[in-house]
Order: sequence, then C-alpha cells, then structure tokens
Amino acid sequence: MPHRFCAICGTVIDEFAPHFGMCLNCYLDENPLFELPNIYSFKLCIDCQKYSKKEEWIESENKDLFKIIEDALIRFLLRNYIKQDMIMFSFSFDTLVYSSRDLLTSLDVTILGKLRDNQKISHQQTLKLNINYDLCKNCSNLRAGMYYLSIIQLRVTDKSQFEVIKEALDQILFFVENLFAKNSTQYISKIEDQNLGVDLYLSTNELMNRIILHMKANFNFILNRSKKLVGRDSQKGRGIYRLKALIKFLPFKKNDAVIINNVRYLVENITKNRVVLRDENSSKHVKNFSFFIKDKISLKTIKGAD
Ligand SMILES: [Zn+2]
Ligand SMILES: [Zn+2]
Repeated sequence: MPHRFCAICGTVIDEFAPHFGMCLNCYLDENPLFELPNIYSFKLCIDCQKYSKKEEWIESENKDLFKIIEDALIRFLLRNYIKQDMIMFSFSFDTLVYSSRDLLTSLDVTILGKLRDNQKISHQQTLKLNINYDLCKNCSNLRAGMYYLSIIQLRVTDKSQFEVIKEALDQILFFVENLFAKNSTQYISKIEDQNLGVDLYLSTNELMNRIILHMKANFNFILNRSKKLVGRDSQKGRGIYRLKALIKFLPFKKNDAVIINNVRYLVENITKNRVVLRDENSSKHVKNFSFFIKDKISLKTIKGAD
C-alpha cells in the first residue's frame, strides 16, 4: 500500500487518520473539539460566593473558589459540550493575580478536553479569566439593612392561648431551616415578641407564601394580607411593596368545648372557614371564623372537653 502524506505537515498518515489528506494533529488543529474565547469574565459575590454573568446569581454546590470557577465556566461556556457528553474536561489554573484585599481577580485557566470514546483526540485551550467582585441582590439587601421583605404576624386573642403560638413557631422554624438548607435566600431575619404573639421578618415574599401554605395544612386561622409602599424600583419603574400577613388563630381546636356569651358548645368540626358547634340541646350552629375574633363576644375555651 502506498504511503499517504499529510498535506499540511508532510508526516506519513495511516488508514485510521480522521481525514484522507491530513494527519490527526493537523486535523484537530483545524477542527478543534471545542472553541472558547481567549478572555472571559464573570461576577462573584464577595459575601456569599454566588456567581453571575448577567442578572441571575447562581449558588455553587462547592465552597472551594477554584471549584466555583469551574462551575461557572461549565455553566457559561461549556454547557452545550457537557450536555452532548462526548468530551471530558479538566481544568488547571495558572498566573494567579490577587488584589490588595487578597481577592483573586484574574488567572489563566487551561481547559483540556478529551473525546470520551477516543482519548487520544484532545484539545486544550487557555483563557484569561477576570473575576469581578460584586454583591448579589441578597447580600446587598443584607448589608443595606433591608434584610426583610415581608412580615408574618402570628396572633392569638388571649395570652392563655400562647401555646398555639409556640407550636406554630416551632413548625415554622423547622420548615424554614429545611428551606434555607436548599436555598440560602429563604430565611427569617428577625423574630420579635409582641403582646399577643410574634412578628416574623422574612427575607422574601415567596417565603411568606410558603409559610402560609404550610400553616394552612396544620392550623385554623383567619388571614389578613396587606401591603405597604416602601420605595421605588427605578429600573422597573414600579413601587416596592412590603407585604404583611396577619394570622389570627382560632382560640380552640376540634373537640374543645367553648362558652360563648355564657352558652356552652362543643366544637364538633372545623372546616376551611367555618366552625360547626353543637349546643347542649344537640342543635347545630355554624359560624364563620371571623365570628370568634370579634371583641363583642365573650369566649372561654375548655380544652378537649368531649
Ligand atoms: Zn499533519
Ligand atoms: Zn451574595
């Protein structure tokens, strides 16, 4: 069999070469496995190490800065290659430049990719990476002291019912702790004692809604939502509102007895927004939740009196 020669470098090529007129090395030079820019930059939150290219801030699963850099490059530059799953990438770092505050501001990242099915076929590229330090939305809120966006107020009508506040608070704290473990923007920034309950200051409006949903599954209460204008988002040209949710617990549970205006009833059932009472002559009375929160009635609860 006559020898064939690479049209570019002149080396002898065999029948397994990827191209009939080029050796493997020259072929890969012309058709690299992947292509990247020579210079790249992204933002890194100086407080929490979330990273960002445009608006969205992304939390890495890693704590190590170099792993975070890898995550960011994979997400922003290599995502499509990773999706195809044909190339295995590895990273190395060089020429590290630190700022006066000891922040890594630029470095050379060498990215090596090998074809999964034939690791002899590889490509390597070095890009200069600049890291711009910034504060993510969450951390800038924290630093500015705007560390809460919404408030949940838990209230009972009488101090003798504080137990329900304690129970609800325990559940909420447990619920939010689990949320926070998955998403660090969801947290309670402050709990304030009030005369007839507590106020919870929450980091997001979403968290408020999730707590309310969680509470609805376990407690009976009246919910009043309100909002207050606290500022203006000039970029979006609209007001910024602080949301408030007032939760007033019913002062009894199912199977408690209650004395209302000197008449004794059994709390036979509690539905989504109504209470079914049975008086001592076995007559049924159905009342809206709001009936029990009014000041006009005198109400005494006898727990678990069946
Ligand atoms: Zn060649
Ligand atoms: Zn941050």
